[in-house]
Amino acid sequence: MTETTQAPIEPSGAVQLDPVLDAMVESMIVIDEQGLIERINKATTDMFGYTTEELVGQSIGLLMTGPDKSHHVDYLERYRKTGKKRIIGKGREVQAQRKDGTKFPADIAVGEVRSGKLIRFVGLIRDLTEHRQVEEQALRQREEMVNVSRLSMMGEMAAAMAHELNQPLTAIANYAAASIRLLKQNKDSHEDILGALEEIVSQTHRAGEVIRRTRNFTKSGEAINEGTSLKKIAAQIRSLAELDTKANNIRLNWNILDDLPPINVNSVQIQQVILNLIRNAVDAMQDTPPDKRIITVRAKLTAPQQIRLEVRDEGSGVSENAAKDIFNTFFTTKTTGMGMGLAICRTIVRTHGGELGFHNNNRYTSSEGATFFFTIPTQVNR
Ligand code: ADP
Repeated sequence: MTETTQAPIEPSGAVQLDPVLDAMVESMIVIDEQGLIERINKATTDMFGYTTEELVGQSIGLLMTGPDKSHHVDYLERYRKTGKKRIIGKGREVQAQRKDGTKFPADIAVGEVRSGKLIRFVGLIRDLTEHRQVEEQALRQREEMVNVSRLSMMGEMAAAMAHELNQPLTAIANYAAASIRLLKQNKDSHEDILGALEEIVSQTHRAGEVIRRTRNFTKSGEAINEGTSLKKIAAQIRSLAELDTKANNIRLNWNILDDLPPINVNSVQIQQVILNLIRNAVDAMQDTPPDKRIITVRAKLTAPQQIRLEVRDEGSGVSENAAKDIFNTFFTTKTTGMGMGLAICRTIVRTHGGELGFHNNNRYTSSEGATFFFTIPTQVNR
């Protein structure tokens, strides 16, 4: 900091600073070694509500409140005695106080000015009220965004549950209608009715399972399972996936390596993603010849700190047209689809710090099916 020049003293005794300093928006205060105010600029009187006369000769502590009131004088004294700089040359945030007692956050930077044997300190004080308001507003906005995304996630989940329940409920209604028809026909259809009733029981279990899974999902909320294994998480839903694939004459290959590093994830959510990708693969293979109906679930370490799980099918593949939209909510090419699955999966994977993507198995044609994959950072990476 450069030496300040002596400001002219007005007949009233009030000390006036250079008009350039008076034009500053920051308050500038020159104090002596004892912390007594020698000079101020106009921004200081505006900021604190005191007149120049009321401030000159007073301790700098007058402009602060709480512990800061005495600290600055203490700092200066310590500096005089020990030469140790606590705030000199650095910026610091303080609670400032106006003449009317109102408080406000301020940033104070103190510099030292030596002129011969004389030491002076120059403090620059910036009112942080507006800055703080902007920060608080940004924080509120972020919180709102998180809330909205959580709400939309819940909405997506409710829609997904409706979607998943639709299938077993339709099946139950069909089997029940068939049983009624058979009973009305009064023929000996004991076997058929029994078969239909058994289907109703199994479809009811399926519906119950959807509800149970969804309930777990919402219940576990943010719960993260620390240091868990992807192999274990996936194994817990393998039989559920097999139910789906068997019913559609699909062979399910399961190849998740044993020695994958641990991950920190919400297990239920990751299971939801895997199941969803498998269900989509099943749907995509409706027109695939029976001998080619294979889904392969594979997981491996693809980078030192990243696991990748893939679900490969031999289905319809993703057309160029569909490719740009499939992650959008409500985009579906299925007559009974809701277009929620992939949007939810992507949200889940991203909240885990990973990415969800896909590619057609053959670069040039969609006819050889598609591979959907997601990545998850391993424990050390989070
Ligand atoms: P939904 O299954 O209700 O249609 P999704 O969000 O899960 O909703 O999928 C959106 C669309 O993405 C599907 O309708 C389909 O066109 C496409 N898609 C998803 N998975 C596959 C896949 N394995 N192969 C081909 N297309 C797929």
